[in-house]
Amino acid sequence: MKKALICGAGGFIGEHLVKKLKREGYWVRGVDIKAQEFAPTQANEFLLLDLRNPENCRIALTLQGDAFDEVYQLAADMGGMGFISRAECEVLHNNALINIHMVHTAAEVRVPRYFFSSSVCVYRDMQPGEAALRENDAIPANPDNEYGWEKLYAERVAMAYGRRYGMQVRIARFENCYGPEGTWRGEREKAPAAICRKVAEAEDGATIEAWGDGTAIRVFTYVDDLVEGICALMQSDLEGPVNLGSDEQVTVADLVRTVIGVSGKKIDVQCVPGPVGVQSRNFSKARITSLGWRAKYSLKEGIARTYPWIEAQVKQARVAVTHI
Ligand code: NAD
Repeated sequence: MKKALICGAGGFIGEHLVKKLKREGYWVRGVDIKAQEFAPTQANEFLLLDLRNPENCRIALTLQGDAFDEVYQLAADMGGMGFISRAECEVLHNNALINIHMVHTAAEVRVPRYFFSSSVCVYRDMQPGEAALRENDAIPANPDNEYGWEKLYAERVAMAYGRRYGMQVRIARFENCYGPEGTWRGEREKAPAAICRKVAEAEDGATIEAWGDGTAIRVFTYVDDLVEGICALMQSDLEGPVNLGSDEQVTVADLVRTVIGVSGKKIDVQCVPGPVGVQSRNFSKARITSLGWRAKYSLKEGIARTYPWIEAQVKQARVAVTHI
């Protein structure tokens, strides 16, 4: 039986990955600074640890009389554009510590395979219609935010340790990921969850606010597709960073329309200024699709699975407030 360590297992993608590896017959230890918020973890073992501390990285990586076959590093201090732009010092400081200490300790204890969750935030801003950027086009670098700079640095740290210690390092640059059991309120939620929440909270016929003018181009990847991609990449021999996301490019206005359509409500949208982030995204998927991976869910199908979950959370939160 393979043994896997998932760092960030108390978070959105981490817990979906726990479930996927458990279905595949792995023994899984999850580690996070906080417990899973929405459902009990399915990991065989779950340790509450702050991975900024190197001693805690060692505890996370120690298995009595045994060793991990695979380590998945998804722990990060992160959130939507509002959080990333407001908390840039925390993002740089906390994520650099987690990534440096985790990869250093993993290499020291001779982990054979190490996965690092990077982001397409490592790329520069793009204009609509530009040709797709390949992984090597991230250099010379000009990420739009500090979160992206740290990811780029952490990629290089992971690759250097891989070379020095003979550790197989796999790196995925995730595009925006969404789905049930993701953060949906409190500033750390991403655009799909924020729009679902606003629509779920709104009365039929009401107006909601959306940041920006709606023209920014994005790719949103449903969490089941992303987790399939992580596993395909981890088992592959693809070295270096790999873009991982759907091929469906949409505008933010398309996203809002899709959510409203799924809700069945009549909602008007008022565009307001806000931290929108980059104008456009278009990344080559040649490397990940060479493994036979393809996103299965369209945005509409993914939102149809996500909106009802967020709507239920909104209703539950209202009931909780009524009972205080
Ligand atoms: P998430 O916030 O739900 O999960 C990250 C987890 O890391 C959280 O549970 C958090 O508590 C944990 N964490 C933070 N600081 C920690 C610490 N000091 N010690 C231990 N755990 C700590 O985010 P997610 O969406 O599941 O993202 C997972 C990974 O994927 C992150 O590395 C993120 O940067 C990357 N990523 C996500 C997206 C996306 O759209 N969700 C896009 C690009 C990259």
